[in-house]
Amino acid sequence: MAIAFRNDEVFEVGPGVWVRNMVDNAAWADLGDGAVVIDSLEDTATMEQQIPADVQRTTGKPMKWLINTHWHPDHTANNAAWARRGATVIAHETCGAAQSEANGQPNITFHDRYTLAGSDRAVELEYLGGTHTPWDSVVYFPWAKVLHIADLFGWGMIPLSKFDPSKIDLLKQHLARVLEYDAHTLIPGHGPLVEPAHIRRWLAYLDELLARAIPLARAGKSLDELEQACPVPADMLDWWKLPDWKHRHNLTLIHREFGA
Ligand SMILES: [Zn+2]
Repeated sequence: MAIAFRNDEVFEVGPGVWVRNMVDNAAWADLGDGAVVIDSLEDTATMEQQIPADVQRTTGKPMKWLINTHWHPDHTANNAAWARRGATVIAHETCGAAQSEANGQPNITFHDRYTLAGSDRAVELEYLGGTHTPWDSVVYFPWAKVLHIADLFGWGMIPLSKFDPSKIDLLKQHLARVLEYDAHTLIPGHGPLVEPAHIRRWLAYLDELLARAIPLARAGKSLDELEQACPVPADMLDWWKLPDWKHRHNLTLIHREFGA
């Protein structure tokens, strides 16, 4: 049930919502009097010019706003350049203070929710921070039933740098909240587009992985033994990069936390 990775293709996800589907996804929407872009990527050499050109070509509008889902460098690299082109930068309030102006500090910040209204359409931002980063926010395009979910879902990867039971619980809550949106297509920060069924499948995978791998780690089993006992489920073998390294990353987090 994986979705094909249309790497480096620009296409419409829903009415007036486009992506350039890449390892680092660019997304944008036509709000009437201008376009809003979600995240400013890591590649400055090509994408600084490419995305504004894509936006103009698909919407016929200039990039008027830039929303950052979180302040990781692979989501903010073109902030300063696009701000110089006239984009108003919007991000969660915790992003602002930490950043220098050279990085394209946000011009507008918000606390828990924010509605960005253009002349014809509005997008809705919701803060769901505290797991992947302190800053994570999702962006809903309600007319198209498309939701940008930042890096809260990583095609199977536990999106944490260190295992933390309280963050795992919060992540489950955030993903349950994501599923409450009436969205049929989810745009992740990286890789192929996502459907709500993938989120549900991953939540079940996570519970099963924790139930099986934590006791083995506690019993002193090696990382390789964990991987043998907990292989990638057959129906997830086609998930983007999960068998290559993400599943092993998940077991590594568990092994570091609960191993001897
Ligand atoms: Zn990230």
